[in-house]
Amino acid sequence: MPACVENGLLFGIFLEGEGALSQGDCQDRPREHCGIFGAFGVPNAASVVYRGLFALQHRGQESAGIVASDSEKIRSRKGLGLLSEAIDPSELYELKGHLAIGHVRYSTTGGKRLQNIQPLVLEYSKGLVAIAHNGNVVNAYALRRECEANGSIFQTGTDSEILVHLMARPNAANREDSLSGCLKILKGAYSFLLLDKNSVTAIRDPLGFRPLCLGRLESGIVFASETCALDLVGAQYVRDVAPGEILRMDALGWHSESMERPEREARCIFEHVYFARPDSNVFGENVHKVRMALGRRLARDRPASADIVTAVPDSGNSAALGYSLETGIPLERGFIKNHYVGRTFIMPSTREGSVELKLNVVKDAVRGKRVVVVDDSIIRGTTCKSRFSLLRKAGAKEIHVRISAPPCQYPCYFGIDFPTRTELIAATKSLEEIRDFLEVETLGYQSVEGLLSAVGEPQHYCTACFSKEYPVEPDQPVHKMILENPADGGT
Ligand code: SF4
Repeated sequence: MPACVENGLLFGIFLEGEGALSQGDCQDRPREHCGIFGAFGVPNAASVVYRGLFALQHRGQESAGIVASDSEKIRSRKGLGLLSEAIDPSELYELKGHLAIGHVRYSTTGGKRLQNIQPLVLEYSKGLVAIAHNGNVVNAYALRRECEANGSIFQTGTDSEILVHLMARPNAANREDSLSGCLKILKGAYSFLLLDKNSVTAIRDPLGFRPLCLGRLESGIVFASETCALDLVGAQYVRDVAPGEILRMDALGWHSESMERPEREARCIFEHVYFARPDSNVFGENVHKVRMALGRRLARDRPASADIVTAVPDSGNSAALGYSLETGIPLERGFIKNHYVGRTFIMPSTREGSVELKLNVVKDAVRGKRVVVVDDSIIRGTTCKSRFSLLRKAGAKEIHVRISAPPCQYPCYFGIDFPTRTELIAATKSLEEIRDFLEVETLGYQSVEGLLSAVGEPQHYCTACFSKEYPVEPDQPVHKMILENPADGGT
């Protein structure tokens, strides 16, 4: 285990295996960010966290980790790849204890390297602490430079490490309110789980960008990015961790503290559009229901004369159902997804080939038909084009594309890995140019107003990737590798 001591902080990297992922990066969707899960007061907490992370696998497939405590010792397992690749379930018994936190990662800051796998485990004057983070701290670059000027040596290329370095500063470490004082310095999106020997602490940023909820098991408490993970472990949903809340669980019970909150929240609307699972409730609403409402509104605003409605699976399924119910046009299964395309499969060299590997068309369902095809978003446009060409090849007479989100024109700085603005097709082409590029009869996007009409408290949502109305401006241009050393791929 490599470790180093600097500025009152011992950094330990608890890793198994070596190397970096070689997963193809042909990205035509914004990439999921991270999923976090924690348990307190639960026998074999690491096993419960493992199952919780399993339900959150869609939020990150690059790496996974679990850290557990039995109040005497903190132990961890981490690795690259899917949860089942990163952590051998037969070794979970080694992660003893009734407290544990876990993380599945898709990197939004920092590269795919072993040191960046979370939960990070560090030691400072108050002892060992483990940290799991979902989100993106937008002033991380400036804070890191400041910490480095004061002697801190960073071990990872992630923004998540900043919090522990702030906590390790001598003037912070001696104060009772050190955690809330450090959190006040952070700007941007963070849902954190922290673990020390005796407690688990759940934190959401004051704007509440990323979801985090609290559930109850017979024997203890769990925290999860999405409620689908509570279902899998058999926990009862209690409530969301509130924006700006610091909720600490220890042997004496719950201790809740609130940071100062702005009037308006900035919940990520893309959680409803694409990221979260439809069987989850996030920000107090069921994702499937919101997607259905998006489809209904899309049908009213962007009607089409067609014989069938079909979805791009899986994220278009609920919106397509809504579109069909609203218009009375029958819903058909136009595409069948191959769920068994492994990440290690040698992908064909053409985008068309890789799309065919993942999706097949039910030819008898679409041949000779006017088809409305519903998808959640168009990012670069190239993969969408290949999908629609499969419909054409299968004999669809007309293709009417309907997108349940507005055009994605601006990058996200809050924990979603978007391509640069120049790569976003809607930022560089007009509606007619995109339709022409996709080679379809008609194209209709949701409006921002239509998008917000599908959720209960529209004033509390972030829509910056569609509207450019950033709830927090980053201090400097942000990119994924900004905190990496040049040797690790940074600048
Ligand atoms: S910019 Fe878009 S993806 Fe990012 S937090 Fe806001 S709504 Fe979500």
